[in-house]
Amino acid sequence: MDAEAVRFDRVTKRFGDHTVLDGLDLTVGRGERVTLIGPSGSGKTTILRLLMTLERVTEGVIHVGGEPFSHMPGAGAGGLVPASERYLADRRRGIGMVFQHFNLFPHMSVLENVVEAPVHVLKEGREEAAERARALLGMVGLADKVDARPTRLSGGQQQRVAIARALAMRPEILLLDEVTSALDPELVAEVLDVLRDVARDTDITLLCVTHEMGFARDVSDRILMFDQGRIVESGRAGELLDAPRHERTRAFLSAVR
Ligand code: ADP
Repeated sequence: MDAEAVRFDRVTKRFGDHTVLDGLDLTVGRGERVTLIGPSGSGKTTILRLLMTLERVTEGVIHVGGEPFSHMPGAGAGGLVPASERYLADRRRGIGMVFQHFNLFPHMSVLENVVEAPVHVLKEGREEAAERARALLGMVGLADKVDARPTRLSGGQQQRVAIARALAMRPEILLLDEVTSALDPELVAEVLDVLRDVARDTDITLLCVTHEMGFARDVSDRILMFDQGRIVESGRAGELLDAPRHERTRAFLSAVR
C-alpha cells in the first residue's frame, strides 16, 4: 500500500462495560476512499469521532500520517503516552469532517462560514481566505449564495456549504458521517454529486459512513462491513456490493436496498 493516512492498531473503545470497538485493526492508504457500512450501533461513527478527537481510545493506538495520533511520544508502553489536548489540537488540523447536521453559524453569511476557520485557525489572510472560499463555493454550486444567511438555504445547500467549509481547511483526510441522512430525499442527489466531484478532482483521503450504496459504489476503493465493533468483511466496492461473502453483509445489504 502507498503511504498510510490512518492506522488503527488494536483499538478498543468502551463506554462503561459496553465494548463499541473491539481490538480494531484498520489501515487506510493516503488518497484511498473507504466506506464503512453496517447496522446501527456497530461502531462506524465512533471511528470517525476518534479521528475528530471527540472520543478517546480505551486501548490501542491510532496513527495518522504515519505518526502517533491518539498517543504522543513519552515514557509509557512502546514509548507512548496518551496524547495531550494540545498535541491533539495540532494533529487534528489535517482532518476535516462533515456531519449529518450541518452546524453552520446562523449569524454569519455563507462566505463568512467558510472563511472563519482558515482565518482563525490557519491564520490565513482574510482576502486570500475569501478568494478561496468563493472558489470552493463555486465548486459546490453556490457561487450566487455567498452573501446569504444559512437559514435561507435548503438543507442540501447548507450541506454543500458545510462541505466547502471543511475543504477550506485544506484537510488531507475528510470524514463524512451520514451526510445525507438528515436531508429530504429530493436533496440527497445534489450533495452526493458534489462529493463525487470532490472525490474525482482531489486526492483527499475519504472515510465515509453512509447508507447510500450507489454513492459508496461510485466513490469507494474499498468497503468495510462492520458488525458489533468488528470488521466482518472488507473488499473492493463492486465486489463486496455485488457478491458479499458474509451472511451478515448479505442481510445488511438486502435490508438497506
Ligand atoms: P454506528 O455509527 O455504527 O451506528 P456508533 O459508533 O454511533 O455506531 O455507536 C456504537 C455504539 O456506541 C452504540 O451502541 C452507541 O449507543 C454507543 N455509544 C456511542 N457513543 C456513546 C457514549 N458517549 N456513551 C455511551 N455509549 C455510546
